[in-house]
Amino acid sequence: MSRFWSPIVHALEPYTPGEQPKHQSFIKLNTNENPWGPSPRALEAIKDASGDALRLYPDPIASDLRESIASTFQLSADHIFAGNGSDEVLAHAFNAFFCGKEPVLFPEITYAFYPTYCKLYSIEHRMVALTDDFRINLDELQGPCGGVIIANPNAPTGIALPLEDIERVLKANPDVVVLIDEAYVDFGAESAVTLVPQYDNLLVVQTFSKSRSLAGMRVGFAVGQPHLIEGLNRVKDSFNSYPLGRLSLAGALAAWEDTAWFEKTRDQIVANRERLSERMQGLGFTVLPSSTNFIFASHESVPAERLLAGLREKGILVRHFKKERIRNWLRISIGTTEECDALLNALEALL
Ligand code: PMP
Repeated sequence: MSRFWSPIVHALEPYTPGEQPKHQSFIKLNTNENPWGPSPRALEAIKDASGDALRLYPDPIASDLRESIASTFQLSADHIFAGNGSDEVLAHAFNAFFCGKEPVLFPEITYAFYPTYCKLYSIEHRMVALTDDFRINLDELQGPCGGVIIANPNAPTGIALPLEDIERVLKANPDVVVLIDEAYVDFGAESAVTLVPQYDNLLVVQTFSKSRSLAGMRVGFAVGQPHLIEGLNRVKDSFNSYPLGRLSLAGALAAWEDTAWFEKTRDQIVANRERLSERMQGLGFTVLPSSTNFIFASHESVPAERLLAGLREKGILVRHFKKERIRNWLRISIGTTEECDALLNALEALL
C-alpha cells in the first residue's frame, strides 16, 4: 500500500501466477507447461537470430509470423495480431473492445485474469454460474452486455464447447465482441478460427505457450476480421509498438512451421492425459472430461488441500484454487509418462 498509488491500483486484485520454484527441483504439474520442449527447429532459429542484428529494433508488425499463421488458416495477414503472450493480447482486446457501458459476461469459473483486466481497465463485468456439471451456461451469455468472453476449452475445468455453441453465442450477441480464448484448443477442441470470415464480432486468441511449448518466450496471437485487428494495433501502438523481440519472432515462426513436432508432442500429451485420467478414476477421483493439457480432479474422501500439501512434500507441484465452488479440486498438468507415473504413485501413497 502506498499513498502514491492511483485509485485504480488500490482497487486492483492482481492475478496470482502459479509457483515457479527457483531453488528446488520439482515435478512441475502446476502451470500447464508442455513437458516435451520446443521444436528443435525453433531452438535453431532462435540461435541463428541471436547475433549483431539484436542491436536493431524488431519488425513492429511481426509480418513473417503473421503471414505464416494467416496462411495456415487460409486468411490474409491483416486478420492476425501478434503479441507478447496471449495474456498481453487479451489485455489489449479488453482495452480495445470492452470499455462500453454494459458489463461484459464470462463464466464464474474460468481464467482468473479476466476479472483482473476488468478492474485494470475499469470494465464492468458479470460472472455467470456454471451448471452443476461444470459446463458453461449458454443461455446466460446473452442479453444486453458489453461483450462475451469464453475460454474454449475452459480453464481450469478443461471442458470444451462444440462449435455450434460458439456460433449460438455469436448470433445471440451480434453487436458486441465475442472473445474466444483458445489457449488449450490444440489438445482436442474445435477452433472458432474457421468462423472468423462469417462473424465480424468474433475474436479468437491463441498462444505458443502450450501446444508449441514456448511459454518462456511469451508469444500469443489473435485472429479476427481486419477492423478488430486494427483496433488491437491502435492499442498496441499506444503501449509498446515492438511487443515481440527478434528472438521471439524467429522462434515462433519456426515453431509454427514445424508441424511434425507439434503433432507428435500434442499426440503424446493427449495419450498421457487419457491414461492419467483413467488411472486417477481408478483411485476414486472424479475427473472432468478434458480437451486440454491438464485434468481437473477431485477425490471423494481426501480434501484437495491435503493432497496438494502431500504431493508438494513428495516433490510434485499441482495447482489448487481457493474459489469456494472448486475448493476440493486440483488442476494437474499432463507431464511425461514418467512424471504421470510418479504422480500416480504419490497419490496412491497419500490416499
Ligand atoms: N488463457 C488461458 C485460459 C490460460 O490458461 C493462459 C495461461 N495461463 C493464458 C490465456 C495465457 O497464456 P500465455 O500468456 O502464456 O500465452
